[in-house]
Amino acid sequence: MPQYDFVIIGSGLGGLLTATILSKEGYNVCVLEKNPVIGGCLQSFARDGVIFNTGLNYTESLEKEQVLYQYFKYAGIVDDLHLRRLDKEGFEKISFAGDENEYFFAQGEERFIDTLAASFPSERKALENYVRKMVHLSHSFPLYNLEIKPGNNSLNEYYYTNTREFLQTITKNEKLRNVLAATNPLYAGIAEKTPLYIHGIINYSFMKSAWRLVDGSSQLARLLSKQILGNGGTILRKKKVVQILNRNKKAYAVRIDDGALIEAKNIISNVHPVLTMEMLDSSVTRNAYSRRIRSMDNTIGMFTLYAILKKGTQKYLNYNIYHYTSDDVWQGYYYKEDEWPPYVMAYTPAVSEGDGYANGLIVITYMHFDEVKQWEHTTVENRGKEYLDFKQRKAEKLIEVLEKRMPGIRSKISKYYTSTPLTYRDYTGTKDGSSYGIIKDCNDPLKSLLMPKTRISNLYLTGQNLNLHGILGVSVNSLLTCSEFLGMDYLIKKVKNAGSK
Ligand SMILES: Cc1cc2nc3c(=O)[nH]c(=O)nc-3n(C[C@H](O)[C@H](O)[C@H](O)COP(=O)(O)OP(=O)(O)OC[C@H]3O[C@@H](n4cnc5c(N)ncnc54)[C@H](O)[C@@H]3O)c2cc1C
Repeated sequence: MPQYDFVIIGSGLGGLLTATILSKEGYNVCVLEKNPVIGGCLQSFARDGVIFNTGLNYTESLEKEQVLYQYFKYAGIVDDLHLRRLDKEGFEKISFAGDENEYFFAQGEERFIDTLAASFPSERKALENYVRKMVHLSHSFPLYNLEIKPGNNSLNEYYYTNTREFLQTITKNEKLRNVLAATNPLYAGIAEKTPLYIHGIINYSFMKSAWRLVDGSSQLARLLSKQILGNGGTILRKKKVVQILNRNKKAYAVRIDDGALIEAKNIISNVHPVLTMEMLDSSVTRNAYSRRIRSMDNTIGMFTLYAILKKGTQKYLNYNIYHYTSDDVWQGYYYKEDEWPPYVMAYTPAVSEGDGYANGLIVITYMHFDEVKQWEHTTVENRGKEYLDFKQRKAEKLIEVLEKRMPGIRSKISKYYTSTPLTYRDYTGTKDGSSYGIIKDCNDPLKSLLMPKTRISNLYLTGQNLNLHGILGVSVNSLLTCSEFLGMDYLIKKVKNAGSK
């Protein structure tokens, strides 16, 4: 008999939350992580005592009874999370080069409308209509509104609607359309592809409430691992899975890079689907399913600057800055090298102790893998001087653009570190350092969507490459994967009723 009911490959949020749910429901789980540190994109790291997040800058819908609150309540971690709510009046501050105005996203439907209507007085009706549409959209997804809907499994209209075109139906005001789509780096928006469900779920769930994790995002991984261990589960670090062994289209074990075999009744992969397919033998990887997965494109990667600030120079910002170098927020994806960076997203991480001043600053923008391709055969810390020079050049450009939005910021930085898509590729194993995994395409949603089930009967997928990425998306996907064993109605009831007497 195999030792485990489930082996879960990878300890990102997807792996950890899936393991938490299954272990809570009585299964014997084992999570295998290739790195010494668990968490994938939830990891944070410290330099000179300053804590930086790698892939969770802020999250959403964590007010009591809101959707992510309920998921985390069910997982048993919500009461221990150390959170700070971002400014209700403006958690996103959006600006454009050459336009001295700032545009705010506020929390709460009414406040969201009122705040933007203050900038666009003649557009109140359009804003009301936009919010009404967002509410309708969010009610069309049972896993996001925690309502059990009888049986229709077909994709709804929002998978087929193009976000940019939808915004054109909301208003003729081009600036407002760009403002409403200005946080599209949160989903690596592509003008001709991004389905409305992605824009809608993300914008609406942040409109409900927006939060920072205080003292680092790794607390989420820590709390989930405590649950798994408490439920009798196992988490093994420095265990890179190199092979999934299968017989007669059934997986029965995984091989670790040290040669050891671990058997399980079921295997769940939290690793990018292409890399998961590469773990299978060629009889499987040659089939149509595997070819389809390999043909899927991946979202763009990110360049991140982690700056240590001089003491007492920069006040903590309880909001995010999105500053664009051009008027069209959809152009960023196609930036030309000489126009880089197309935008900067900047924020100061939240710390529990302090004098109101920030000790760190994180600045992020897009970076295509092509820009770092010449170093693709190198490994972390061993990429050579040219790569370091490249990173420094990019960092300086990023600061130059941020200076326009935060004058004097350069003089407040004492030291900085950077990461590129290669960093993400090597730490989290995401394909080509892609930030959010597989691109979803409204022109052919079925082709770009993956379900938890694979063509190997007891091999399943979880994590950001299914329906939606991000903390909320990956949490929902974990439920989707677990529903294969526990039933959807059962799980929705559990999540919905979590915490009620
Ligand atoms: C720069 C950046 C900023 C972001 N900001 C936000 C944000 O502010 N808010 C938000 O909601 N989302 C944000 N996201 C997205 C979010 O972080 C991800 O969608 C989510 O964390 C992905 O979780 P995951 O479990 O699918 O994958 P991952 O976190 O990538 O986890 C995969 C895990 O599998 C492990 N692994 C890989 N290969 C193997 C192997 N062979 N054997 C064993 N283990 C293996 C990896 O080491 C890793 O731990 C951001 C992402 C990026 C890149």
